[in-house]
Amino acid sequence: MHSFGSMLQYYPFRYVDRSKFYKVRDINSLSAYIQLRGFISNVNEIGEGRKRRLTAVFHDDTGTIELIWFRGIYHFRDLFRQGQEYIIFGKPAKFNDRYNIAHPEVEPIEKHIRQLYQNAFLPIYNTTEKMKKNFLNSKQISSIQAELLKQVEGKIEEVLPAGIIEQNKLTALEEAYRAVHFPKNVKELEAAQLRLKFNEFFFNQIKILRLKIGRDTVLKGAMCPSIGFNFNYFYDNNLPFSLTGAQKRVVKEIRADMGSGRQMNRLIQGDVGSGKTLVALMSCLIAIDNGFQACIMAPTEILANQHFASISKFLSGMKLNIKLLTGSSTKSERDVISEELCDGSLNLLIGTHALIEDVVQFKSLGLVVIDEQHRFGVAQRAKLWKKNTNVAPHVLVMTATPIPRTLAMTLYGDLDTSQIDELPPGRKPIDTRHIYENNRIKVYRFIERELREGRQVYFVYPLVTESEKLDYKNVEDGRKHIQEVFSEYKVSMVHGKMKPAEKDAEMMKFKEGETQIMVATTVIEVGVDVPNASIMVIENAERFGLAQLHQLRGRVGRGVAQSYCILISTYKLSQESRKRLETMVETSDGFVIAEVDLKLRGPGDIEGLQQSGSDFGFKIASLSKDNALLQHCRRVAQSVLDEDPKLEEEKNAIIKKELEKTRDVSFQWEMIS
Ligand code: ADP
Ligand code: MG
Repeated sequence: MHSFGSMLQYYPFRYVDRSKFYKVRDINSLSAYIQLRGFISNVNEIGEGRKRRLTAVFHDDTGTIELIWFRGIYHFRDLFRQGQEYIIFGKPAKFNDRYNIAHPEVEPIEKHIRQLYQNAFLPIYNTTEKMKKNFLNSKQISSIQAELLKQVEGKIEEVLPAGIIEQNKLTALEEAYRAVHFPKNVKELEAAQLRLKFNEFFFNQIKILRLKIGRDTVLKGAMCPSIGFNFNYFYDNNLPFSLTGAQKRVVKEIRADMGSGRQMNRLIQGDVGSGKTLVALMSCLIAIDNGFQACIMAPTEILANQHFASISKFLSGMKLNIKLLTGSSTKSERDVISEELCDGSLNLLIGTHALIEDVVQFKSLGLVVIDEQHRFGVAQRAKLWKKNTNVAPHVLVMTATPIPRTLAMTLYGDLDTSQIDELPPGRKPIDTRHIYENNRIKVYRFIERELREGRQVYFVYPLVTESEKLDYKNVEDGRKHIQEVFSEYKVSMVHGKMKPAEKDAEMMKFKEGETQIMVATTVIEVGVDVPNASIMVIENAERFGLAQLHQLRGRVGRGVAQSYCILISTYKLSQESRKRLETMVETSDGFVIAEVDLKLRGPGDIEGLQQSGSDFGFKIASLSKDNALLQHCRRVAQSVLDEDPKLEEEKNAIIKKELEKTRDVSFQWEMIS
């Protein structure tokens, strides 16, 4: 049943209304699958060998268009009759400035009329390259679905209680599967889609909410009710500036959590440079003041080093024992750390998470801070709890990748969220410009001036393909070019093929100012701080997603100098990439950018849809388009659990059964946070 289920869940990504006809005259570059009605003439075989093909001319009363077949030539050659009116169906493409349609479906009009009202909505399935190689097209997928539906008829069990189905006026599950593949009309289709989306969101939410309930009732958090000496000393003597309003608010929220007796699981979203580190540090001080140890985990060694350096400075003059643990720590350093962790004399451990996860035993771990890693999953977090025998440590996850508020609440549903939505005062906004390729020389001249002033510059290249080799070539060509243009300066390079240690070493050189220019792929995205770098140049900026552009821009604007982000693109821009670049120029607010990003990835853009939905196993529901339904399903799920937290009542048995069935299938719950 499972494999049937997943085939049935291979949903059409769009439908064509086959009762509607296009005119040849109206075909333009935006026409996707269209249906035309007219006559076929001039059937011709041309070319030799592998280039052999069949062409024909189709015309209606507004114009002509070429039809073309590379396969099935003999089949089609003798098929067409003079004077017969045909319906053709296919996707126009432009070739030598003229449109043609390759491998159209062709039907005599009588037959078409006969079939029309059985199935006015034709489902269109996405086909991968691999499917195409096996000659599996949308029509064949459709007939597989038809066959499958026949076989499972009467066998698809309902997964929602009757009460929920009634209250929400939902179509029965089996009927929904039929109608999503073979809708008779729009109304039926919409009802089917609603039902299937409801399923996805409802089970998603019930899982998340159960996780939360489970933790709230079972786990006791490290008890941190008081603010003590270290926190106060730091606040009064060492804090070099006053906290922003947002920092104050978030620290308060954390204090309340840590003093509540329950385990804190909080996600802090704050734009790059919003001062998350300081909030993390103050939270650590709360844990320490209450007799616990704390640790801060960073995704890379260089970030761990950076945290260690800045936190040591923040805490100078205070009698706290802070240590750094990374891949470069020596055996004897590790031994000391182990010992001090076990006897409790080490207050704060900073390191890369791989190491902290696997190697370390704390005496009394009270708080874990996970930096720049919103993907750090439930499973990994659970691993850390086990390090404590008596209580669960509080968990603070920090991310600079903002997602819209409503989504955060729902998708990180088992985490509470805080936003640091204010930057420290005095930051000069980054000046962002969009420049076309042919103005490159001007950009170089400008950069030359900045370099002469002693500033540093990033040049970022996109990942061109999935091939690492080509990526490397792209960035390597970039480096050569940049080195030629700026021959007086030293150039560093960082790309995905390098080992972490090599990357870190190269990054360090740039940070220390040994090199003035950093050429890189997107690997530099994560939180590296080089205050003297004031220009971020992004090549082929049209190829980057909004979130990525925003992250990259955050690498500059960290020092006193005015910073710039220069987005270089080609002239040829799709509407969507133009909107992305415009958004970057207009705003630096991460939340605004996240909202635009979500809107841009409409259901028309299958790739975007998969990106935002597939992490959560959504095949039909769209996080952007169906947000209201998502909120609704969350409320429905919540009310089910309010009434019956353990799903023990008879009527909820089918929910439980479905949850068990899907437990280890495709859902990657580690991905949630
Ligand atoms: P992020 O949120 O990106 O991790 P950081 O914590 O690295 O940001 O902070 C960026 C910079 O801002 C650091 O140099 C930090 O010392 C400084 N900073 C943090 N909070 C404040 C504040 N309230 N006022 C002024 N500067 C601050
Ligand atoms: Mg940071």
